[in-house]
Amino acid sequence: MTRQSYGPPSTRSEERAWRAAGLLVDVAGRALPATVQRCAFCDGGDLGDSCPASLTCPTCKAAPRQRCHRPSGHTAEQWHTRRVRAADLEDQRREDDGDSTLPARWPDAQPAPTPA
Ligand SMILES: [Zn+2]
Ligand SMILES: [Zn+2]
Repeated sequence: MTRQSYGPPSTRSEERAWRAAGLLVDVAGRALPATVQRCAFCDGGDLGDSCPASLTCPTCKAAPRQRCHRPSGHTAEQWHTRRVRAADLEDQRREDDGDSTLPARWPDAQPAPTPA
């Protein structure tokens, strides 16, 4: 199983910089695209992994592409934890299916190196 040589980055901008420099790879060991395409499901970028917004939230039942909402009906600031967890499980399933387009996982070793 290919792992990233660096990371994990502490911020999204750091991740973008590493990606632009060709330091991040997919599970097949290929460099990830230098620029991030828009995600089809949320306002963020498509990082190649499963977006929580592509799934129905187990907690608030928000449909795909809809933001999570509180019991009051107000839009929540973040995805519910169980929705994020469901996206992680979807990534695991894709990995088990041999999907080679997933980004490689961050190294297990802590602390991991950061590029100079
Ligand atoms: Zn997304
Ligand atoms: Zn939710």
